[in-house]
Amino acid sequence: MSHKKTAVVTGAAGFLGSHLTDYLLARDYKVIGMDNLLTGNVRNIEHLAGNQDYEFIKHDVTKFIYIPGAVDLVFHFASPASPIDYLEKPIQTLKVGSLGTHNTLGLAKEKGATFLIASTSECYGDPLEHPQKETYWGNVNPVGPRGVYDEAKRFAEAMTMGYHRFHKLDTKIVRIFNTYGPRMRLDDGRVVPAFIGQALQGRPLTVQGDGSQTRSFCYVSDLIDGIYRLSQGDYHEPVNIGNPREMTVLEFAQRILEITGSESEIEFRPLPEDDPKVRQPDITLARKTLGWEPKVPFEEGIVNTVAYFKNFLALNA
Ligand code: NAD
Ligand code: UDP
Repeated sequence: MSHKKTAVVTGAAGFLGSHLTDYLLARDYKVIGMDNLLTGNVRNIEHLAGNQDYEFIKHDVTKFIYIPGAVDLVFHFASPASPIDYLEKPIQTLKVGSLGTHNTLGLAKEKGATFLIASTSECYGDPLEHPQKETYWGNVNPVGPRGVYDEAKRFAEAMTMGYHRFHKLDTKIVRIFNTYGPRMRLDDGRVVPAFIGQALQGRPLTVQGDGSQTRSFCYVSDLIDGIYRLSQGDYHEPVNIGNPREMTVLEFAQRILEITGSESEIEFRPLPEDDPKVRQPDITLARKTLGWEPKVPFEEGIVNTVAYFKNFLALNA
């Protein structure tokens, strides 16, 4: 009999779900990955083929989930995550945040498992507090185009706290700030793959607005380490995980040009509606409760990510 713990990861074929899976397998978990491949790709998990401790189930988590046997941890990561994905798939986004969260909470309750939901800095909307602490309630336009994502995640957090308070379920909520790294989709529209892809292919870098809006980018290995620590602790309120190193989008474009050595131009485009003007995590709580802080410097993370996309483009030329 195996005494390994079993984790269910939804969104398993996506960027973060696949990295989380690798992290758990390396720590001797069995992992059941679930994904309907809406925005993910089996390419992200094909290296796991034949791994005895890994099972993939193609399933839409907005439908009832049945898993035989014991489950110790449920990580609910399924959801379109990039602005163009959730603008193109508004109903799926609302459903996976609401029905999908309900089903995965139900699975955790049935199995007596710990539950962790991937929430987001988008819960703070276009923030009026800067940097953002977990105590800030946010400035979200519920009926704007981004509302389908923001409100689905806010509902998912509310339902998670409901299961914690009413059913006494062991739940955790991570508010993830912009994270980047290998396995992002080149065409998902997020600024990191967009600018790196454009720089590598000699196309103009499409800066939206005047580029003065800020973001703070966290490398994926740092994020996954923080999330795992959160899953092992006994803190139940939301926790920010992200890298506080803040920069403007224009500065980010210039750094990408320097690092790739690209001669691409910078082209200005209209700023999408409700695009947050600033974003930076306050990670005091993560430092205190998890003993966590990011370790990977921006330059190192970007160099790894550029190498991944170079290789990807060469293989798919
Ligand atoms: P991703 O698009 O790469 O992965 C999401 C995965 O969920 C995809 O593989 C997709 O096919 C799957 N999925 C979507 N709907 C589903 C459904 N109904 N049933 C089963 N699978 C479904 O995105 P990501 O960047 O890996 O994001 C993962 C999670 O982290 C999301 O919940 C996202 O909201 C959250 N998050 C990510 C970031 C970030 O910077 N990457 C920031 C904040 C929050
Ligand atoms: N952005 C940009 N050009 C692009 C894609 C994004 O200037 O081709 C900007 C976008 O307007 C936002 C920031 O980069 O201000 C981060 O966008 P992303 O889609 O990565 O995620 P967000 O943080 O907005 O959810």
